[in-house]
Amino acid sequence: MSEALSALNRWLIALPEADAVFLVRLTLGFVLCLGAVIGSFLNVCVYRIPLGLSVSRPRSHCFSCGKAIPWFLNIPILSWLALRGRCANCRAPISVRYPLVEAATAILFLLVFQMWGNPTLFGLNRLPTPLLILPLWAFVASVVVDVLIDLDHRILLDRISLGGTALALLLAALVPVWFGEAAWWRALLASLGGAAAGFGVGFAIAWAGERIFLQDAFGFGDVKWLMLFGALFGWRGALCILMIAAFVGLGMGLAALLGAKLRRRGEEAGPLAIPFGPALGAAALLWLFWSDALVRLAFEAHAWALQHRPAFLGALLPVLLVSLAWLLHRVRAIRAAAQEEGLEPLPEESPDDDRHHSA
Ligand SMILES: [Zn+2]
Repeated sequence: MSEALSALNRWLIALPEADAVFLVRLTLGFVLCLGAVIGSFLNVCVYRIPLGLSVSRPRSHCFSCGKAIPWFLNIPILSWLALRGRCANCRAPISVRYPLVEAATAILFLLVFQMWGNPTLFGLNRLPTPLLILPLWAFVASVVVDVLIDLDHRILLDRISLGGTALALLLAALVPVWFGEAAWWRALLASLGGAAAGFGVGFAIAWAGERIFLQDAFGFGDVKWLMLFGALFGWRGALCILMIAAFVGLGMGLAALLGAKLRRRGEEAGPLAIPFGPALGAAALLWLFWSDALVRLAFEAHAWALQHRPAFLGALLPVLLVSLAWLLHRVRAIRAAAQEEGLEPLPEESPDDDRHHSA
């Protein structure tokens, strides 16, 4: 594999510069297109998997008039732009989420390719291990699917969490350099330890959250997803992703609260019922691409707080605690109100995938 790559490199270096640049651009363009096409397929998965429908047939059709969409109107991003977000047949609006998911997947695919592709070609850091590109493409795609399905239905798919954990263990054994190891069994042990740590810490949080705060914002679905992150990134990765997710989740919760306040409508329970999955998924992607920078940032922030602002941590802690208590208080009050009215705030889910909110 590596010999074939260095042969490829020698061939590329021998090329005239203009040709090499053209080839690199062609490759990056191809990766973007591939990501957009996969993103289009992920949109289909997000809609159909929770409903128990086949992802391959029937063909995509308009939700409003039911007309099948011909291939030339089903081109990722471009078709939506050309039709200005409306069905070509009945002019019903098509959600902007579809082209956004396609664009996001394209960018994620490009990031993976740039970081783990050939550094001689692209002049970038990270392990030059093209063996990682396919598994990491699959990983970012699965994160996109899980985040969107969690937003729509409050489910995290078991086939992603459990299947992904198995694949991550396999990846560790096959590409031990991913864990910075030479021996396959050491990498496998690191992956196993990460899975155990992710599951254990997640389980403790889910258990404590249910007992202490009487709410299940962090459910068993999240626990299994954290197990996958542990298997893929090791125990440090799982813990850091959890911490980043707490920040992201707090930000999302405050933003939703603010939105509900601004709107001042009766359905306050709606925007607050944010699952933790999107925060967890965002944290996992941040960790995948920028773990080095995040660790450096945390160290620098810590050093800065210690050196220049001795009172900084002392002031930050009460603020954090008060906002957390306020958030919990609001969530509980809204839940109690919803229960009084006999509203079931959570929709029913399909039985084969683990829901967030089961015990
Ligand atoms: Zn239509």
